[in-house]
Amino acid sequence: MTDWCQATVINNHRWTEKLFSLTISADIEPFVAGQFTKLALTVNDKRQAAAYSFVNAPDDNVLEFYLIEVPNGRLSPALMRLELGDTLEIAKQASGFFTLDDVPKSKQLWMFATGTAIGPYLSILQEQQVWRDYQNIVLVHAVRHQSDLSYQPLIKVLCRNQQLRYVSIVSRESNAAGLTGRIPALIANGDLAKFVDLSMSPEDSQFMICGNPEMVKDTSQVLLDKGYQRNRRSKPGHITIEQYWSS
Ligand SMILES: Cc1cc2nc3c(=O)[nH]c(=O)nc-3n(C[C@H](O)[C@H](O)[C@H](O)COP(=O)(O)OP(=O)(O)OC[C@H]3O[C@@H](n4cnc5c(N)ncnc54)[C@H](O)[C@@H]3O)c2cc1C
Repeated sequence: MTDWCQATVINNHRWTEKLFSLTISADIEPFVAGQFTKLALTVNDKRQAAAYSFVNAPDDNVLEFYLIEVPNGRLSPALMRLELGDTLEIAKQASGFFTLDDVPKSKQLWMFATGTAIGPYLSILQEQQVWRDYQNIVLVHAVRHQSDLSYQPLIKVLCRNQQLRYVSIVSRESNAAGLTGRIPALIANGDLAKFVDLSMSPEDSQFMICGNPEMVKDTSQVLLDKGYQRNRRSKPGHITIEQYWSS
């Protein structure tokens, strides 16, 4: 059973018409970077709850979530309308295994996200462990339009550490600063590895894949075809995944 507590909205930052970051304060239990929790609200007299990944580092007092308003969604439109001082509910305990505890150390760590799934990586990158355990980290953010590339100020700060390379991938516009297309194709044809000038092999790489189920499935398949294996607690491999919804 979920143990809930009350949270208060500190800020609701609008990046675009649909993308927003909700910052709240709440007295929750400690979590591990990469995990998610549940947020809940009563919408039209019905309680609605859904999972959201933490964007903030675990030792921050303010909790942050990066969301998209899903058209006609049960909860996300109501979360988008929240304002300073409004209240909502949050699960006291975090959940999930999309954390570095389940990713073996390696030379290269490739972090693949679509849309709002960049959130858990931003949490992981604001902690020390990732910089110690991986020599090179590649943060790949795939979106439809340039305007969907949120969190540029934080990413710029993180990129001061030369271990990190940030790659934006835009599918519906040209993208002078990054790549155009889709993650699986850019892995399969070698363009992504070439763009960051890093090797990608089963001996030196770990992959975290998060977001849209099609991207998660297709990217995993391209990697499996290249000889990489899923990470299992009983048998470490190379691929760790989290899907934001079912296909
Ligand atoms: C482990 C986990 C972590 C998650 N973390 C986040 C997060 O950090 N930010 C976030 O915005 N969502 C996240 N989600 C998705 C979130 O839980 C909700 O599904 C989403 O907000 C839609 O809820 P809703 O009630 O508005 O829509 P519903 O009425 O429940 O409609 C669900 C439909 O919305 C679409 N959808 C769901 N999530 C997204 C998304 N992120 N981008 C585009 N389309 C989507 C899918 O088509 C899905 O079938 C996460 C899901 C899981 C399982």
